[in-house]
Amino acid sequence: MRTEINGNLLELKAGDITRQRTEAIVNAANGSLLGGGGVDGAIHRAAGKELLEECKRIRKEVLNDHYLPTGEAVLTKGYQLPASYVIHTVGPVWNNRGDEPRLLANCYQNSLELSRNKGVSSISFPSISTGVYGYPINQAAPVALQTIINFLQAQAFGDVVMTLFSEQDYQVYKQTLKELL
Ligand code: ADP
Repeated sequence: MRTEINGNLLELKAGDITRQRTEAIVNAANGSLLGGGGVDGAIHRAAGKELLEECKRIRKEVLNDHYLPTGEAVLTKGYQLPASYVIHTVGPVWNNRGDEPRLLANCYQNSLELSRNKGVSSISFPSISTGVYGYPINQAAPVALQTIINFLQAQAFGDVVMTLFSEQDYQVYKQTLKELL
């Protein structure tokens, strides 16, 4: 599904984010930046070990060995990926405390701002937090899509792609986008 927003393109597709040819792809990382399962593992496998080396340098030199806080984002190169850049952001773990929507929106907002500031005009997102982190996808989809829509309505950016890993996830995002437009 494709829709135009203020001259920008928002696209939903089912697929594997490691194969996307946008300038940047987003990784649903954990705060350690040292890799993990799910989309994080897939991105590190496809990018090659230099990605982990750069993540370790950021941990040490930028974050002073601290974890990347939830909702924040950092940018690395894409190495063996088709994408030039990977933006690593840490989604909230779902625990029903009430601050998850704000933190999830921060992931999308900060990733989009980081790409814009780097001059990147096409970016692919996975469905952040809806895997191991347990955020119910029917509640995550409106937060993700509304944040992207607001960003695109405010400026000329380019292309934003939501890459959903299953047909079922794709249908949830598609239905949600129809309701929001
Ligand atoms: P989180 O810890 O943020 O929940 P996960 O990696 O467990 O991150 O899951 C986030 C989403 O990414 C899930 O919907 C999962 O199905 C999806 N996913 C896993 N691998 C890929 C991939 N290669 N491309 C796109 N999405 C993926």
